[in-house]
Parts: sequence; structure tokens; C-alpha cells
Amino acid sequence: MAQIIDGNRIARSIRSQIRRQAKQLGLTPGLAVVQIGSDPSSTIYVNHKEKDCHRVNFYSEVHRLPADINQNDVLDLIAGLNQSDKIDGIITQMPTPEHIDGQTVINAIKPGKDVDALGTISQGNLLIGRHQIAPCTPTGIIRLIDEIGVKVEGKRAVCLGRSTLVGKPIGLLLMERQATITYCHSRTVDLTAETSQADILVVAAGRPQMITAEMIKPGAVVIDVGINRVGTELVGDVDFEAVSAVAGAITPVPGGVGPMTRAILLENTLKLAVENRSPAS
Ligand code: NDP
Repeated sequence: MAQIIDGNRIARSIRSQIRRQAKQLGLTPGLAVVQIGSDPSSTIYVNHKEKDCHRVNFYSEVHRLPADINQNDVLDLIAGLNQSDKIDGIITQMPTPEHIDGQTVINAIKPGKDVDALGTISQGNLLIGRHQIAPCTPTGIIRLIDEIGVKVEGKRAVCLGRSTLVGKPIGLLLMERQATITYCHSRTVDLTAETSQADILVVAAGRPQMITAEMIKPGAVVIDVGINRVGTELVGDVDFEAVSAVAGAITPVPGGVGPMTRAILLENTLKLAVENRSPAS
């Protein structure tokens, strides 16, 4: 049976460290969350972010904007947050309503406050290996892998999914750690042939339980990023029961990658606060 990687436990320990570190530094980092519209899942995620800030004694602002708001008004709000001394990190909850271009809103966040590192400049810095922070979900995945003591160097890593949010950046971060990377996506011809070679398999497709035991190399580390609502349940992209019998280590859904994404958002906010408030900056 695979080792189950407990994201909740690791995230708790990261939060304690953050709380301690901020206190030692005498800092109250500030996070601003912008939600446009009232998509129920987004509302849950935004509420979590607010609660997480309270847990580590960060300052937080949540801006809940109506779905029909004009894009320029959103950009004006971001411009104000860019100037605010209380705010070190700004994040816009995705997806945005159709008439708002999500990437334009993200790009309006100044790079020094782009806490999820999804703006064009932050992504470019990641690509050339000059990043101070990286997107929260992939950073959380690397921490999970580190936490179980798996050496990434020389391993074959397969990323299923190529989004800018998860798939592309996790490939870059694993390659930075000297893994050999394969990206798979909806046009990959023989998915099983690819995934069954993976020492580390990261699945971010958004397809409930699409990864079955036959697709796994025995002993592999399987990271399930997917969050799919099936009836009243949340399930991942991996058939957890069957794959646990073959894999060496596996993340559960819920309780794997999700809590890590939240913890790294706090960690990135602290890093930006240290950077923004240092006398030299
Ligand atoms: P996207 O929809 O942006 O990307 C999905 C990727 O999976 C695409 O590259 C797509 O290929 C590929 N794909 C979809 N279906 C298949 C298939 N049948 N075979 C092979 N490849 C496929 O999703 P995200 O990256 O934003 O999110 C992925 C999942 O992760 C979602 O369930 C999301 O909710 C979850 N998520 C979880 C987070 C967490 O903290 N746990 C954070 C962020 C996301 P193509 O490019 O060809 O279309």
C-alpha cells in the first residue's frame, strides 16, 4: 500500500512556521483577495483564504465585486491595492465572468505583489529561473514531494495537464530540480504509455478518477491535483483506492494538494512582505 501524503498535516506545520516567523520579524503581512461575482466554489475558496489569514495573524482584505462590474473598475481597484501600504500580496479568484479578461486583471497586479505569481512577468521569471516565488499550487506540490524525502534529481516526471495555473509551472519546477519532464494533455496519443513511465506523476486534468492502476509505474509518487464535485462528494483525477495499491506514495483528495495551495499562499505573502518592507526596497 502506498504512503498517504497528508497535506493537512504539512500545511499546519507550514502555518505554524509562518506565524512564528512573522512574529519574530515584527511584520503583519497583508493579503488582498478580489472576487468578481458569486460563484459558490469561488466563495468557499475566498472564505478559506480570509480564514487562513486570521489563523496566522495576517491582515486581510476581501473585495467581493458584483458579477456585472466593469473591467476598468476592477483595474482601478487593483491600482489602489498596488499602492496600499497594508497590502503585500494581491490575488484575484479565478475564473472571472466572461466579460472580464482574467489575465488582464492579473497583469494589473504589480509584480512585487503578484502573490500567486501568475502575471506575465512572474511567469517569465519562472521560465528563466529567476523567480523569488512561484505559483502556489505547484510550489505546494514540490513541498509535499520534499516532505516525504523523495529525491527528484534524475527522476522521470510526467505532468498530466498544461495549464498556466498548474501543469506548465509544476513541470518547470520539477525540471529545476533536475527531473526529466514529459507533458501530457488532451491530444496525447497513448496516455498510459506515458504515465506508466513516471517515477513522479502529477495529474491536473479536472477529470474525475481518470487515472487507473494500470497507468501507474509500481512505486511511483502520485500527486492528484484534481478537485471534482461528483454528486455531494469531492473526488480527484486519480482512482485513489486502486492506485494506492500500486503507487509508492499518493496524495488524497481532499486533504492533499488543496491545503498546501492555501499554506503556500500565506508563505508567498510573507516572502513578499519581507521583500517589500525591507529598507533597501
Ligand atoms: P485546466 O482545465 O486549465 O487544464 C486541464 C489540463 O488537462 C489541460 O491541459 C487539458 O489538455 C488536460 N486534459 C483534460 N482532459 C484530459 C484528458 N482526458 N486526457 C489528457 N489530458 C487532459 O485545469 P487546471 O490546470 O486549472 O486544473 C486542473 C484540476 O486541478 C481541476 O480539477 C482544478 O479544480 C484542480 N485544481 C486544484 C487546485 C488545488 O489546490 N488542489 C488548484 C488548481 C486547480 P488540453 O490543454 O489539451 O486541453
